[in-house]
Amino acid sequence: QATLKASGNDPYPDWKAGEPVPYAALCTTFSLVEMTSKRLIILAHCSQFLQQVLRLTPDDLLPTVQLMINKLAADYEGIELGIGESLIMKAIGESTGRSLSVIKSDQHEIGDLGLVAAKSRSNQPTMFKPKALTVRGVHAGLRDIANTSGHGSQDKKIGGIKKLLSAADAATAGKGGKGVDITKDKGGPSEAKFIVRFLEGKLRLGLAERTVLVALAQAIVSHEAAVNGEKPPTPEKMAEGEGILKTVYSELPSYGEIIPAILKHGLFNLSDVCKLQPGVPLKPMLAKPTKSITEVLDRFEGKDFTCEYKYDGERAQIHYVAPNAIHKFPQTTSTLQKDSKGLSAIFSRNSEDLSKKYPDVLAKLDSWIKDDVSSFVLDCETVAWDTETKKVLPFQQLMTRKRKDVKAEDIKVKVCVYAFDLLFFNGEPCVKKSLRERRQLLHECFQPVEGEFQFAQYGNTNVLDEIQNLLEDSVKASCEGLMVKMLDTSESGYEPSKRSRNWLKVKKDYLAGVGDSLDLVVLGAYYGKGKRTSVYGAFLLAAYNPNTDTYETICNIGTGFSEANLEEIHKILTPLVIDRPKPFYSHSTVPKDQPDVWFEPRLVWEVMTADLTLSPRYQAAADEFEGTADAGKGVSLRFPRYQKTRDDKKPDEATTTRAVAEMYRKQEAVNKETAGKRGVD
Ligand code: ATP
Repeated sequence: QATLKASGNDPYPDWKAGEPVPYAALCTTFSLVEMTSKRLIILAHCSQFLQQVLRLTPDDLLPTVQLMINKLAADYEGIELGIGESLIMKAIGESTGRSLSVIKSDQHEIGDLGLVAAKSRSNQPTMFKPKALTVRGVHAGLRDIANTSGHGSQDKKIGGIKKLLSAADAATAGKGGKGVDITKDKGGPSEAKFIVRFLEGKLRLGLAERTVLVALAQAIVSHEAAVNGEKPPTPEKMAEGEGILKTVYSELPSYGEIIPAILKHGLFNLSDVCKLQPGVPLKPMLAKPTKSITEVLDRFEGKDFTCEYKYDGERAQIHYVAPNAIHKFPQTTSTLQKDSKGLSAIFSRNSEDLSKKYPDVLAKLDSWIKDDVSSFVLDCETVAWDTETKKVLPFQQLMTRKRKDVKAEDIKVKVCVYAFDLLFFNGEPCVKKSLRERRQLLHECFQPVEGEFQFAQYGNTNVLDEIQNLLEDSVKASCEGLMVKMLDTSESGYEPSKRSRNWLKVKKDYLAGVGDSLDLVVLGAYYGKGKRTSVYGAFLLAAYNPNTDTYETICNIGTGFSEANLEEIHKILTPLVIDRPKPFYSHSTVPKDQPDVWFEPRLVWEVMTADLTLSPRYQAAADEFEGTADAGKGVSLRFPRYQKTRDDKKPDEATTTRAVAEMYRKQEAVNKETAGKRGVD
């Protein structure tokens, strides 16, 4: 744990115990964080600030943490800002008395709306000093903006932003705030800058969400020790606290649930009071890609494992509480739909509530369970189902289903739910049980219903030929391949939110290529030629770097699209056009490499590639090659081909640049090996 040198003077002099946390104090911390790239120093600044909050105003701990992670609520609550550049520019102009054309020209020059806001605010003569912003006030203001919808909502949102900006200081007169150029990046603790960046969804502090979680754990452990009159905590005690918070958060990813519980019961009792429960979706466990069945056998050598069909549909986490058990889940069941059969909901891979998409599935839930089932959370895949041939249909069919407000009687594409895991059962989490035990419970307590509910097909074998046969059979059954999972021992527990080596995916289509498809963010486009002049003909894609919170370009793509695809994509992308690349895009600056238009980062596409190569034209994972002969080059895709749009992934859930580098290295290792076998260097 890094400790900061005592600065001698309090960086937040105006904040008194019991008073709302001044927003300026949080911005001062943000500014200190953005001045450094050292993770331990960042951690220390955050943890010190959170300790201060705990000591002076613990009631504000929740909104403080939420403002730090750039999220107003847990993902499943569906509160999202997603405010485009044009609306923010309008609000900056109106709140600072500058014309939109001046704001646009500043944006063109500076390229960061946060800095444009700070500059606009500093140029504005102030008649009277507005009441200082507080963390809870800013949080409430932002929530109001997010919750505004329907007729006239744009104007109301602009009104909300103006209200916040009018009270915001251009440069906060805190530590580091004087004498800095606020139009420069890292230009001091400006409230206006951080409000605007929050609205854009990127604080750009280099502060990962995971770091805030660790900082919170450290702050609480230190605070609890101080309150109890104990010595400062040892590194072991700190690590214990971090471990508890990480595990609890992975099973119950809601600060709204966890922070009040910590304040009431203490961190070291948290696992007893905060557990996985119906109503709070957990982030699913994910698999690592593999390039061959022999790679699977190498990885799982000597262990028992199972090969399940990898169904090609949509991930669905199904939550249920029977009427007689509702009283046992008083707080968190507000997210579940209530009817005479109990409470239920279906959540997507990224915790979005899909209940309105699948009313037909929810209506049938109770017919899948045997007696004495009072509550459960199932991990499943919903797959399009042909009621005549009684077979699974390809993924494309599922995509034709409406996403919202579906009426059961209007549904044309039926779905069958394939269950492959049981995470919670009759009041108890089961994630720590082995997969063999979880599967046994699933098969004992649920019953298949043809065309509605099935268990994922599997075979427990470690014989290469048998696995090969299973793979062929899975593909014949319209699946993507196999999911190979550890079956026994502690390694076979369910690891929420983790891409784990204990689950491997073998996708038939990718065995000859890089082992997996990539999910990439659309950043730019090129106008079409010939037949494609009215639409975009090619696109610039990027992978996500969670460490720097940037999108790093990886390829241009123009293959795999139908004419209808291109028209639809053009319609979706047109409102997302922006004047220039965002400051958090990492791309080539060579003029001939520039796309014709740039976009807000929203769309995620699944893309297939023949192989990976290094190129100075792209930036993906370039930091991994610094200091080598390939410095300045990024990984890029050769012959990329569009597969489908991933509506279930947000841009920051795209393939990470680290995963890209891993794929590249694996490919190079295999190439070397093959060359070696052929006797070539
Ligand atoms: P992909 O593009 O492969 O779906 P992903 O990043 O969404 O990638 P992965 O962990 O790579 O997720 O692959 C697992 C996905 O496969 C799950 O998210 C789930 O939707 C689907 N799936 C289908 N059948 C199974 C199964 N038997 N066990 C686990 N996941 C399955």
